[in-house]
Amino acid sequence: MRPNGRLHLGHYHGVLKNWVRLQHEYQCFFCIVDWHALTTDYAGGPEVARNVHEMTIDWLAAGVSPSSATMFIQSQVPEHAELHLLLSMICPLSWLERVPSYKELELDGQHKDLSTYGFLGYPLLQAADILAYRAGVVPVGADQLPHIEFARDVARRFNHLYGSEEDFEAKAEAAIRKLGKRGSKLYSSLRKSYQEQGDLEALNTARALLKDQQTITLGDQERLFGYLEGSGKLLLPEPQALLGDTPKVSGLDGGKMSKSSGNSIFLRDTPAEIEGKIRRMPTDPARVHRHDPGEPTQCPVWQMHQNHSSDEICRWSEEGCRSAGIGCLECKAPLIEAIQTELAPLQERAIDYEQNPDLVRSILAEGAEQARDEVRETLVVVRQAMGINY
Ligand code: SF4
Repeated sequence: MRPNGRLHLGHYHGVLKNWVRLQHEYQCFFCIVDWHALTTDYAGGPEVARNVHEMTIDWLAAGVSPSSATMFIQSQVPEHAELHLLLSMICPLSWLERVPSYKELELDGQHKDLSTYGFLGYPLLQAADILAYRAGVVPVGADQLPHIEFARDVARRFNHLYGSEEDFEAKAEAAIRKLGKRGSKLYSSLRKSYQEQGDLEALNTARALLKDQQTITLGDQERLFGYLEGSGKLLLPEPQALLGDTPKVSGLDGGKMSKSSGNSIFLRDTPAEIEGKIRRMPTDPARVHRHDPGEPTQCPVWQMHQNHSSDEICRWSEEGCRSAGIGCLECKAPLIEAIQTELAPLQERAIDYEQNPDLVRSILAEGAEQARDEVRETLVVVRQAMGINY
């Protein structure tokens, strides 16, 4: 995630709740991509640092836990830059120029200087961020699919240029031989699946086969799998997008909630700020007087009820509005309460971190160390493949 500073309800429902769930299902790496922020705003450094801190507090408050997931700042894992550099040697220029969001941003952001080498290369930096962990899946929104596809293309090209089937077979055989007799049957199945299927499918089959082996310890399974993954054609596995449910969270003006639109309720807005923002919200413009019936579908308040209120309250608001049975302030009251109640536990958790910036810094530093341990292994594989592992 780019360091956006304080996060709002849109981030919470669209991303963070999903992460909190995923951290118990996968080995997760959540990265604050501060270098990416500089690719579109090279002068924004001081603000980036502030934003990193505030965003980390919001992650923690939302329930992203350093004991379940690795959370870190991209620039504290300099191996991302090395991998980016090495992958840049094999990345055709035309691939970068055709990435859709590159073109869109280039046109949209004309007030910024985007004619830089850093901005052109940011999709590759993002690919390096993913491939550094030889990630299986990346939780993204649909708008990010071209970037995942780009990362897959880069991995495929790298594997094509530097991987070889003989390497895979020799290394897989050697690894499985270490398992003794119990490995021979497994090896023939793996070999078959590898020959019959493409890279990623074979890898998935390998994982499934290994998981099935009751007689092989979990540790052996992991070691063997890691070995297969880093061998032969599968130097860099192609990542898959993990598309979650991303509900559209509407903002105070009825449009999509976004910081730049000034229509957000931030996760750490005080109860009074939340109340003030909702009380000032526009309503159905055709409902001028209290006794005029309104049309909820024309009202941003009703849209917010859909995101945050119970079905019962939504029905009450809809009927009361159409029959002029309730006034707009009356209609807003349960919405204010619902959002205040939803954010209260999160704000409670944030207090510790707000009062203890050193704790936040140490969580990120520890996360960076864990991340570096992972990425160093990938870089050994990559340097070895490219012939520069001295
Ligand atoms: Fe909007 Fe509720 Fe007023 Fe209807 S009653 S216009 S839904 S705020």
